Amino acid sequence: MSVAQGTVLSGLGVGLNSAVGEVHIVKPQAPLPEWTKSSKSVDEERSALKVAIANVSENLDALGVRAGGTSAEIFEALKFLLEDEELFEVAEGNLDDGWTAGAAYGMAVNTFAEILGGDPDFDERVKDLQDLSRRVQADLAGIEMALTLPEIGRYVLVGDDFSPADTAQFTKAVVGVITLKGGPTSHTAIICRSRSIPAVVSCGAAADLENGDTVLVDPVGDRVVFGGDETLATKAIEFVALNAEPVIPVRANIGTLADAEGATAETKAEGVGLFRTELLYLSANTAPSIDDQVASYSAILAAAPAGPIVVRTIDAGSDKPVPFLNMPHEENPSLGVRGYRLIQDHREFIEDQLKSLELARVATGREVWVMAPMIATVGEAKAFADLARSIGGYKVGVMVETPSIAAMIEQLEGVVDFVSVGTNDLSQYLFAADRMNPSLGALLNHWQPGLIRTLARIADGGKKAGISVGVCGESASDPAFAVVLAGLGITSVSVSKSQVTVVRNALSSLDLGACKEIANKVLAATSPEAAKAAALDALSQL
Ligand code: PEP
Ligand code: MG
Repeated sequence: MSVAQGTVLSGLGVGLNSAVGEVHIVKPQAPLPEWTKSSKSVDEERSALKVAIANVSENLDALGVRAGGTSAEIFEALKFLLEDEELFEVAEGNLDDGWTAGAAYGMAVNTFAEILGGDPDFDERVKDLQDLSRRVQADLAGIEMALTLPEIGRYVLVGDDFSPADTAQFTKAVVGVITLKGGPTSHTAIICRSRSIPAVVSCGAAADLENGDTVLVDPVGDRVVFGGDETLATKAIEFVALNAEPVIPVRANIGTLADAEGATAETKAEGVGLFRTELLYLSANTAPSIDDQVASYSAILAAAPAGPIVVRTIDAGSDKPVPFLNMPHEENPSLGVRGYRLIQDHREFIEDQLKSLELARVATGREVWVMAPMIATVGEAKAFADLARSIGGYKVGVMVETPSIAAMIEQLEGVVDFVSVGTNDLSQYLFAADRMNPSLGALLNHWQPGLIRTLARIADGGKKAGISVGVCGESASDPAFAVVLAGLGITSVSVSKSQVTVVRNALSSLDLGACKEIANKVLAATSPEAAKAAALDALSQL
């Protein structure tokens, strides 16, 4: 045994429940064959490659169906990468040079990885591509790529990080997950949260664990306890709703019609605080017509929970490529032409979107607010507001995702009706920490005092300017953090469907004065650990 009983391994927790289980280390897959020249014809190798890509694609479909929900969207995006025509053309060039199908595809992916590599924004995408490359090569070599996981028992999986394809293969025996790398926005974190599997990510010390060790996965305590039992688990505060309504409205984040329907059927969300329109178009090769857009937006608006619906114009770019926009390769896509900046080359699409939203608003009679993502200056906010007001009768706002606009909220008085803070990107840009980089999870922790103080300033600026300030980033999904947000003066939160009830309960369990007291205690902290501890401590004394 390399770790002493009771040893605490720190990381970042995902979820509110704990689990005890036996460590099951997930090792890298069986080695793939060496890359060699082929003795077969180019045509034979080409057909073999096509079959292998089709097999992997079918397998992704099956995994998507099995995983469902958020994970299904991730598999759709992976299929898009796998079936990329340019990638196939590069592989065909390698086939013409006499390489086997597996070698040709592997080399083509390496060529792409080299082009994208060195750019941290594409790290996650390059990892996905390499995972697909291994799957295609394994299919060609007849190697089984499925994880071999126990079907019965209680196991805690330990690995560097898990790909979406890995997570879809988790059996019922997987009661917890620990990753050495990976941050709060990694695939593993998102999927574990949506499947309610307790996880601790960014837990480097877990490298010392061995198969057969017993561990307690304690996400609320941001830790793993070696040999620990459930009695040691940090209890999530059980918020009991004392008031009929939360201190500030809790809205739902949606991307699809199914999300809108689910939010209405399963939650008491007060409208929608973020409709991510780009999620409708992640695999569209041609731009949707105005008629198409009106039809899909109308269906979604009609199905959304009662209350205002905040629709964001397309936020393509960086980690969300939209094929029909043909966005050029950029050295630093997260610092590049993304979000509202697309107005430079795609003004027509943004205008069409605003026209379609106006037609859908009138057709459904719903209260629609529109906002633009990735706004950096008051000038951009004004340009968007003028454009939107010239087209429709909706409320107009902007997202606060850059430190530059966060510093100018007061100056938005009379320019916009509202702002909505995207803490995912705001953290990325405040801390200069790529949100997709698995090694930087600790900087993206929403309890970072630098983020909390920035949110306090944004809320103050909004109050002075007379504009409402919502938060729609992942941070609002943490019920204790939502209480702090209300205390800072944030006027609404918007969270993923699965978190609406718990966040509503938290915000219905106390009054605004208590939220303010808690926020003041949190503002005094100078580390994320101290900030979180101050909030939990104050909440547990209520
Ligand atoms: C955010 O940045 O916090 C946000 C809500 O937008 P997205 O996650 O879609 O970039
Ligand atoms: Mg964002």
